[in-house]
Amino acid sequence: MTEIPTELRIPQPEPVANQRKSRGEELWAARKAEIVSDPKSRMWTVPSASDSRVSYQVRITGLDLCECADFSYRRPMGGCIHIWAARKAKEVSTYCECCGNRVPWCKVSEVMEEDGLLSWFVGQRICYSCVEQTSP
Ligand SMILES: [Zn+2]
Ligand SMILES: [Zn+2]
Repeated sequence: MTEIPTELRIPQPEPVANQRKSRGEELWAARKAEIVSDPKSRMWTVPSASDSRVSYQVRITGLDLCECADFSYRRPMGGCIHIWAARKAKEVSTYCECCGNRVPWCKVSEVMEEDGLLSWFVGQRICYSCVEQTSP
């Protein structure tokens, strides 16, 4: 049995998860156009912050999962920066109930009674491009 070094037992003042969270949100802010989710698998594609040619498949529904080395080897509490970036992207977007794509909240419209769109029910969230296609 190995003795745990004293310095590892002292609580760290800054939790590592918070650093990853803020780095993840920075990554999202810089690369949000590339952070997309697949409507079928609900997996997110998140680019690597250090290598622009690399991107990772991230799952944030159910059990969090990311392909990156940080997550695979260290299993950080709260997730790696890609998981945080995907969470942020999820927070600012929703599913279109027509095409199933994820769209930012500003590009979805909630169907109102006065819209007169016969194909939809009141309260459904439909993206602008779907609304345009069905408007008379
Ligand atoms: Zn990751
Ligand atoms: Zn749509």
